[in-house]
Amino acid sequence: MSYSQADDWIRAFAATAAANKVYLTELDSAIGDADHGINMNRGMQAVLGKIDGIGETDDIGALLKTVGMTLVSTVGGASGPLYGTLFLRMGTAAAGKSELSADDWAAALAAGLAGVQTRGKAELGDKTMVDALTPAVDALQAALADGAAFDDALRRSAEAAEGGMKATIPLVARKGRASYLGERSAGHQDPGATSSWLLVLAAADTFAGQAGQ
Ligand SMILES: [Mg+2]
Repeated sequence: MSYSQADDWIRAFAATAAANKVYLTELDSAIGDADHGINMNRGMQAVLGKIDGIGETDDIGALLKTVGMTLVSTVGGASGPLYGTLFLRMGTAAAGKSELSADDWAAALAAGLAGVQTRGKAELGDKTMVDALTPAVDALQAALADGAAFDDALRRSAEAAEGGMKATIPLVARKGRASYLGERSAGHQDPGATSSWLLVLAAADTFAGQAGQ
């Protein structure tokens, strides 16, 4: 993955956050405070403004850190710090690299997930973004261990994230605002898991057919 492909991925995530703003907010209105789509869209629009002015660089780590810092400073609630941490940790893992191998990408996403878990204190099954990101990382690593090409590994990762997202529907939330609802949180898909699936899907869509580049 080149710097320009990483940049394309961030722009694709911003586009899907905008396209799904109403959907994410509807999901959050069922079990949260009805702002997830609005927050993610505002944050990613701010990110677009920042990365347009980033200047001459090919450091993917610096790009991802800029995304993380922008989300932390522009998005309120839980999603700003959590998505900010995800991108900051990915940026640290990718620091100084102008090219990421499939293994580099898997390591960066795993580092991002670990940061989210540390920050949010969420485990698998708590009905949070961790429920989409964990299967995404696991499927990515399994695909690469199988010798899958980068684009195929990303596709499998996105499919696993979608499965994890859907698996949040029957869960009772144990973290985040939805946990205040207790049993009433069951029967609704988690908005954070949904935006996390969109993030991984944007990577798969961006890099489809570009393996090895
Ligand atoms: Mg909310």
